[in-house]
This record gives sequence, structure tokens and C-alpha cells, in this order.
Amino acid sequence: MGYIEPAPIVDHENPFESMMSRFKIASEILGLDEEIYNVLKSPAKQVAVSLPITMDDESIRVFEGFRVIHSNILGPSKGGIRYDPAVNIDEMKALAAWMTWKCAVVDIPYGGAKGGIICNPREMSSGEIERLTRAYTMSMFEIFGPDKDIPAPDMGTGPREMAWLMDQYSRAVGHTTISVVTGKPLVLGGSLGRTEATGRGVMVTTLAAMEKLRINPYGATCAVQGFGNVGSFAALLLEERGVKIIAISDLSGAYYNKDGLDIEKVIAYRDANKGTLEGLADAEKIARNELLTLEADVLIPAATEDVITVKNADKIKAKLIVEGANGPTSYKADSIIHDKGIVVIPDILANAGGVTVSYFEWVQNRQGYKWTRERVNRRSDRIMKDAFEKVYETAVKYKVSFRIAAYIVAIDKVAKTYKYRGGY
Ligand code: GLU
Repeated sequence: MGYIEPAPIVDHENPFESMMSRFKIASEILGLDEEIYNVLKSPAKQVAVSLPITMDDESIRVFEGFRVIHSNILGPSKGGIRYDPAVNIDEMKALAAWMTWKCAVVDIPYGGAKGGIICNPREMSSGEIERLTRAYTMSMFEIFGPDKDIPAPDMGTGPREMAWLMDQYSRAVGHTTISVVTGKPLVLGGSLGRTEATGRGVMVTTLAAMEKLRINPYGATCAVQGFGNVGSFAALLLEERGVKIIAISDLSGAYYNKDGLDIEKVIAYRDANKGTLEGLADAEKIARNELLTLEADVLIPAATEDVITVKNADKIKAKLIVEGANGPTSYKADSIIHDKGIVVIPDILANAGGVTVSYFEWVQNRQGYKWTRERVNRRSDRIMKDAFEKVYETAVKYKVSFRIAAYIVAIDKVAKTYKYRGGY
């Protein structure tokens, strides 16, 4: 006897708690009224549905789907739909709130929402995914709408799913309604520049941060975790601006080359290789987690939540972390990283390029007009740079991290709007 097992280190692996902890700090600095804090701390609406689907083998499987609307104070709620086995209501609540803050940081007139279905699209046929998407759309028919709640792609979904969603919604209302969803294929009212928009915003904010830190992009080194829509375009666009991408990763592993990878070639390889980097040539295969702690100037986590935690934060060697994913850093890791002097450009700023171009898509759909790629890129770059400067100035003013500064900018805007709108 006498042996007491040491208490385990409890990290905030729950993304909703991670979001709330930062929200609380920013609210206190801002001196937010308690009433408004209470309004913003809980989601406005949470919907859970069960979706019975006939599978290809004629069995019936029941899937669980969610849509969480965190806020519609600034306008119709906006946010992606995630198809992933790890989807759960807490994650949806955090992601929905992050959408509220994200839209407010880049100053676009939307509230925040997020949806998801617990499923593994990698193991489903295209027909099964289509039936699931149509069933989900019908279950959420009362929620979605061009002036109410506008979905978009997220992990596990893309233009194909958005096209089915648009078609199903349009059938139900009786006329084609392209502005009900963004991230659609180009021929169906999608916007030029939407596919690469999140990665492009990551590139713009990375370069802006490098300038402040006096890191020359030419020859600077960068590791990118995740090679999906966000990571691959961020890597490609940064490489085009002289940054050496020394490591990338996907579910198959991480791939390292100290002289820099040729990202255009890597993308072509992935596309011809069923979407995976498995077997990539001209690179050394390393453990997936090793990528996060490599010697590199910049680290871009662009995969999923809670990958930088108390378990690895003290081993990170990058000078700058730019969060391409939503919530890649746990709350408890924040202070470890801060104490090491590492600058973090937070998710709600760094990856807001996607929703910004979603907004442009929605505007074009409502105008019945198509903008050129040049116009889309010019306007989104301007929005991202302005948002970066505003967050930077706020960080200097309050002597806080970029993350807390971004929350301050966002919460201040939503709270002021709420005061003007009033309530019952
Ligand atoms: N799912 C993306 C995000 O997390 C895009 C959302 C949107 O375009 O509405 O920002």
C-alpha cells in the first residue's frame, strides 16, 4: 500500500472546451457583459437526425447526422458539413462557434454553423454517399436556406456532395436554388478560386506573419501536416513564393526531403494514386507525428483537431505555426507554445480564406453573375491581409497572443451587433 498512482495529465482533448477556454479569456480582457457572454457561450440551435439508408447490398443502415447553429447574429449561419467516423456533437458545437468567430474576424455578414454525419466515406460507394447526402438534406430542409443557413464542404465532403445537396434542396422547394450551398462544382454556380481558397488564405497569412517576424520566405523551411484541400494548396502556393516545403503527410505517413519537395509533382502523384501519398518517391518516409517536431521555420497543421497537445508542444521547433485546420492546438498546449516564443496564427484567422470565397460564391449566385478568378483572388487576399493587420494591432494593443487577439476582434463585433439588434 502507500502507492498512489500519479494523476494523469488531462489535456483539453474536447474541442468545445478548448474553444470555450479561449473565449473566456478574450471575454474577460474585453470586459464583456455577463449577459452577452451567456448568449454567445451556447449554440442557438442543435439538431440531431437519424438517417436510414439502403446500402448497395440492400441492407438498411442507420446513420446519425447533426447540424449545430452557433449564432445568426451577424447574418445567416454558415459552415461546412463533415463526413467522418469521429463526428460528435461536442465537436460540432466547437466547430460551429469557430465559424461564428471566423466570419466575424474577416468581417463577412454570416453567423456560424457546422454539420456532420458519423460515417466513413472511404468505405462507402458513390451511390451510398449520394443517398446519404440527399437524406440528410431532406432532414435538414427546415434548417437550410439561402437566407437561413448555408452549408459548404468540410472534411470528407467536396463539390460532388454540395451538388447533390443543392439538387435535393431545389427539388424540394420546386425551383433551382443554387445559393443554398457553397463549394459547388464550377458548372453549377461554384466560384472560381473556391477550391484553393483556404490554402491561399493560409499562404497569405503565413507570408504576412513572416514579414512581421522578419523571416525571408526565400529558402525558409516549412512542414505541412495533412495533404487534403487545405494542406496541398497551402504547400503549392507557398512553394511558388520561394518557401521550401520539407515535409508533408497524409493518413499513409509523413514524407521528408531536406532539400524541399516538388509539390506540383506530389499533387499529380497523389491524384494518380487514388488520393494517397503512399509510395511517394524522392522523399524519406517518417512517422506521422515526427513531422510536427521537425526542424523547420514554419509548421502548418492542416489536418484535424488536437494534434498539438501537452504531449508534444514542448518538442515543437518551428518559429511560426499557421493553423490551416480548425482547432489543431489544444488549449493547454497554448501556454507551452507561447512560453517557447513560438508565434501562432490561429485557425479562425488563418483558414478563413475558404469561407471568404464561399461568401463570394453566394454573392455571385445572388447577382446571377460570375467573377473572374483574378477578381476573386484579389478581393480575398485583401480581406485576409486586412484581417491579419487588425488582429496584429489588437495583439499589440492588449499585449496578447494572435489567438486571443483574433477572439477579441470577433467577440467584440458579434457583441456590438447583438446590442444593436436587441432581443426579447
Ligand atoms: N468548412 C470550411 C471551414 O471550416 C468552409 C466553410 C464555408 O465555406 O462555409 O471554414
